[in-house]
This record gives sequence, structure tokens and C-alpha cells, in this order.
Amino acid sequence: MKNLDGFFKPASVAVIGASRTPGSLGKMFIESLLKYEFTGKIYPVNPKADVIDGLKCYPSVDALPDGTDMAVILVRKELAPGALEQCGEKGIKNVIVITAGFKEVGGEGIEREKKLIEIADRYRMQIVGPNCMGIINSDEKYSLNASFSPTAPERGGVAFISQSGALAVSILDFARDMHLGFSIFVSMGNKANLTDIDFVEYVAEDEATKVITMYQESVDNGAEFMDKIRRITKKKPVVVLKAGKTSAGQKAASSHTGALASSDNATQAMFDQSGILRVDTMQELCETALAFSTQPVPANDNICVITNSGGPGILATDAITKYGLQMAEISGETEKKFREIIPEDGSAHNPIDMLAAGDHNMYASCVEIALQDDNIGAVLVIIVRPPVDTTPKKIIEHIGGVIKKYPQKPVFLAVMTRHDEESGKDLAAEYSLPVFNFPEAAAKAIADMRRFVKWQNKPLGNVVTYEVDRDKVANIIKNAQEAEREHLTDAEVREVLTAYGFPMPRFAVSGSAAEAVAFQKELGSPVVLKIESPDILHKSDIGGVKVNLHSEEEITAAYEEIMQNALKVTTAERIEGIMVQEMVSGGREVALGTVKDPNYGPMIMFGLGGIFIEIFKDVVFRVAPITDAEADEMMESIKGYPILKGARGEKPVDFAKLREIMLRLSQLLTDFPQIMEMDVNPLLANPVAELTKAVDARIRIEV
Ligand code: ADP
Ligand code: MG
Repeated sequence: MKNLDGFFKPASVAVIGASRTPGSLGKMFIESLLKYEFTGKIYPVNPKADVIDGLKCYPSVDALPDGTDMAVILVRKELAPGALEQCGEKGIKNVIVITAGFKEVGGEGIEREKKLIEIADRYRMQIVGPNCMGIINSDEKYSLNASFSPTAPERGGVAFISQSGALAVSILDFARDMHLGFSIFVSMGNKANLTDIDFVEYVAEDEATKVITMYQESVDNGAEFMDKIRRITKKKPVVVLKAGKTSAGQKAASSHTGALASSDNATQAMFDQSGILRVDTMQELCETALAFSTQPVPANDNICVITNSGGPGILATDAITKYGLQMAEISGETEKKFREIIPEDGSAHNPIDMLAAGDHNMYASCVEIALQDDNIGAVLVIIVRPPVDTTPKKIIEHIGGVIKKYPQKPVFLAVMTRHDEESGKDLAAEYSLPVFNFPEAAAKAIADMRRFVKWQNKPLGNVVTYEVDRDKVANIIKNAQEAEREHLTDAEVREVLTAYGFPMPRFAVSGSAAEAVAFQKELGSPVVLKIESPDILHKSDIGGVKVNLHSEEEITAAYEEIMQNALKVTTAERIEGIMVQEMVSGGREVALGTVKDPNYGPMIMFGLGGIFIEIFKDVVFRVAPITDAEADEMMESIKGYPILKGARGEKPVDFAKLREIMLRLSQLLTDFPQIMEMDVNPLLANPVAELTKAVDARIRIEV
């Protein structure tokens, strides 16, 4: 873990490119530092000035006092590498490069950034940026606003790490209205030297930080990021807004898995496996952060809604259900208590509806009753500007008085009124009560808190390995690579699967219809005929598969037909024969596969399989290797899970067998990074473990 104290807890900060010119960045920066009352020393560096804003100005970096903790570079892009070099010579180890015009502009900017990295490496310096907005640490001991954000944040428990400087500035503006308080704030810029995980690790250890939020466009060193962050999320919530969801995805893929994979699948898989709470909008990011930073996490999924109007109560109910929470069932005893307080026509069933009669006393009493009931995990209070003799502000004041006695249980407010003196939104902040504009937003934030608790309690599981014939596969891959064959032959694929213990049906490759018939007789069960040719990847597409063949006539006719179909797309020399395979009946088709993600390495796919896989797209991805618990979770998370569990009187498939096969695949991928793409489709899942078989597969390797 990198030590970033030099950035966030400096005793002295040099500002290279400080300026007296009103409106300039160099001037604003100094003003930000002063206005936020930085507790350390500020050293403006400017050869043309003696004093800036009352601070002694230094003519050069060289002239700075020794032991300066941190420097901020604001100079023109052409001068930035030189300034960094001077910092290196001066022994300043921590530098924020605000200056833009690097990698983000392409061309010579890329070269300029390489130069920065080279200098930083040479002097063992850490740099934030370039092309960033700076950092903030709200801790009163430092009060560091080393950014040119005109808005300094309220103090609080949210750390925000942003890849976009512009978003970083706007969130600070927006956050003020919401009373969202920050601990640490980082605009990472181009991440030339320090990247996401460095900052996340740092704020994870920061005591003031209760929730870590991020705006990410790209993830650097995905595998490392994942490995580290999944430990952090067990302790502190990490909420991420990942932009660039709709990227083009895989281009020409030769497998179903490849066709179904996209960079967002990979991101989603990584988030799911590392307990990151993903949000879709900046608004949600702020709201979830607000909930975590102000309230304890709910102990259960049961929410009690207290309202003074019906409509919002129904909306809240819908949202609570939609986000996977529940409306708390109100026990007889609690119901009685509510009854004594609310008007006769009101509802003592959740949502608790006080009707328009709900005044500040009634609100406070209802909240207290809900807080006293152990079955209730969280209380959501909806306030619509009441017609009775009270105001939202008065109501909040009274609720504020009650909640102090119940610090373990969270309360959320949906105040559906304009933000004015009477709305009480500012007052709520004093009680650390989170205010949402609408109940749906509150429900979403509560649901995120519960996701966090569930992730914390969830066992990660174990990476299981089996006895396999690794050398065999190594040889096959080596041979294919030497022959520069990207796709393994059908025979090779079967050998690989056998070596790693994938169950497969009995088969023989026949050179004539007579041979096919003879093999079927030997098997004594119906068979499937399949074309076998390196030119034919998707056999059904060209009429190369005939299933459920019983008799000699059926087999002979199918053989001829498949041959004719195949000869339309390839030549006789390129046909290895026709495979006769035992027909496996009673299976439910699932698919397993893998594709290499440039950022995360091999990904494992599981989903409903068969020839319509790309139409239904009912698949889930995980980064390999997967654990047994993750394999189970993958199976449970697809829409078709009820089909596997057994719909309409069917027996459930043998999930233990499927899990084993998934783990064997995971082992194969971990052992052989040369595997670029692979499909096992279909894998026929059966209630009986021994009848579960992989009937078709393809493998593409790196050549
Ligand atoms: P491809 O995917 O190249 O078209 P498959 O071998 O997957 O070829 O066969 C196509 C479909 O035929 C499968 O999705 C499955 O429904 C069915 N099938 C193939 N082999 C068998 C078998 N041994 N038992 C039962 N059904 C099979
Ligand atoms: Mg297939």
C-alpha cells in the first residue's frame, strides 16, 4: 500500500505557477488554500512576484525551504515536465500535476505524459494527475483544499475519488444542497502514476471516511484492483459510478461466449465478485453516499414507512419491493401502539398513514414506536407539506429529538417539498438525518446499504481443484501453436475435456454410413450424427447435426444429408468424418464458456444454452478463477434458474455436478492462459449427476 500522507496531511505545500492575476488558476489555487484555512505552510512559487495574497513568494523550486511535503504544478504544459524534474531534484516526493495537455489530447501529449512518468520513477516521486483538479482533505487538523474548486465541501464521512475533474467540481456544488459531507476528495486525472486502487486503499484506512465513492471511466490493472478491493469492501462500502457502459463490445467472435461478452459484462462481473455497489447515476451515487455517511446500516430488510399521505406511501411500497426489500409486517402489539396515536381513518398497517392530521407530535410518536420494534430494520418517513398546524421543519425537529435514543436503527426522510426555511432540510442535517426528495430514492439507498451488509456476511467460498492431466493439455496446445492452428480440432477439444474430467457421451468418428450404423448397434441407444471439420464451427447452422436417430434407415439418411450439406461449405479433404454420439435425453441445456478480457483475464460464462443462446442472452459472467460459492451464485442468478430448479413438476438438475464442471473449467483456464475463447454448449444438465454431459465444445487458443 502506498503512503499518501504527504498529499493529504502535508505540513507544507508549494504552488508552482502561483499567480497574482485575478481569475487565473494560479490565483484561485492560492485562494482555495487560504479560504479553507490550511493549517500548514503555503509556498507560492513565481519568479516574477515577491508576495502573493500576503504569502512570501519563492522565485524557483530550488529556492523552496527543504523538506517541503507536497508541490502542486500549475504551469503551462510545456513547462510541466521541467517543473516536476525540479521537484525531484529538490527532494519533494509528492506532486499534484494540475496541468492538462497530456495523454488525454493524444499525439505529443502521450509523449509528454511518458516523460512525467519517467521523471517520477527516476526520483521515486508519487504524482496525482496530470490533468486533474486536485485534492481535498476536510480533516480539521489539515483543512487542505488543494484544488481550484470554488466550493469547499462540508465535513463528513464520504470519500470521493473521481476520474473526471469536471464531475468532481459539480458534485461538490450539488453536495452542498444535499448536506453531503466529505472526508477526502481526489480528482485523479490521467492516473499516470497513482491510480484508483492507491487512493481507495488510502481512504479505506482513513478514520473519518465511512463510505468510499468513485466515478470511474476505466479501471487500471483490473485483476489487481479486484483482488485488493474485495478485501476493502468487507469493511467499508465502496460505491462506484462506472461510465462507458455501452461500449462496442467484442468484435468478430468465434464463440457464443465471445459474442455475448462485452466490456461491461467484465466490469459487472468484477463488481459483483468484489462487493462493489454499482450505481447508475451521479444522483444515486450521492444519495447512497448520504445514507451510508449519516445512518447505521439496517439490521434487516424490513422497512416501516410512516407517511401523512397515501400516494407517496404506495410509491414507497413499490420501490421497497422493487429494490428487494420488504414492507415490515407490523406485530399486533406495535399496531396497537400506532392505533392509539393515529386518526381513526388512518392506517396502522405498513405504510403507517396518519393522513393529513399528522402533526409533529404524531410523527415523533410514530417514529418512536417503529424504532422500538425489533422486527423493523429501518424507518422511512415521508413528509408532504402538511395542511395542519405544523411545518416539515417542526416535524423534523421533533423526530430529531426521538432518534437520539435509538442510535442503532436508521431513519431516512423523504421530504417532498421545496427547499425553503420551512422545509427543515437544513435542520435535518444537524441531526444527521438524510433527506431525499422522493421515497423511491430513499428506498434505493436503503437497499444499497442492505446489499453491503449481505456482502459482508457472505462467505467468499473456496477455489476447488481436481486431479487432472495437465501435461496432456499442455501438449495439445503446444502442438496446435506450433502448427499455428487457432482452433483446436474436435478431437483435440474432446481430449482436453477428458483430461480435465468433463463428462461426455460415448462417441465414435465414422467414415461411412455403415460404420455409423455399426457403432449405433454397439451402443444400443439412439444417436446423434455431427459433421466434423475444421471449417465448420457452428454445425447446426449448415445442417451438420441430426439428433435422435434410432434405425439403420434413419442413420443412413442422416449421414448422407449431413455430408451433402457439408460439401456445400467445404471440400471432402477437409471433412474428418461424421461423429456418432450417444443421444442424451432428459437434459436441460446450459452453456459454459470463457472469453479473455483484456483487463481482467479469463472470464467464465454460465447461462441457458443450446442453439438459441444468443437470442435469450440469459448468461452471467465472472472473472476466473471462481470459488464454489461463486459458481452457485452464478447458477442462481440467471433468469432461467427456475428451469434448472425444475418447473412444472420436473426434478431439479444436479447442481453439485454443474458446480463441479464449472470449477473444472475454472481450473483449466487458470492452468492455461493460452485459451482465448471456449464454449461448452450445450452442457446437458440432468437430475442425475452421471447423466450430466457436455455434448459440444470448441476452443480457440492464442497462436
Ligand atoms: P453446434 O453447436 O455446432 O450446432 P451441437 O453439437 O451443439 O452443434 O448440436 C446442436 C444441438 O443438438 C445442441 O444444442 C443440442 O440441442 C442437440 N444435441 C447435440 N448433441 C446431442 C446429444 N448427444 N444428445 C442430445 N442432444 C444433442
Ligand atoms: Mg453447440
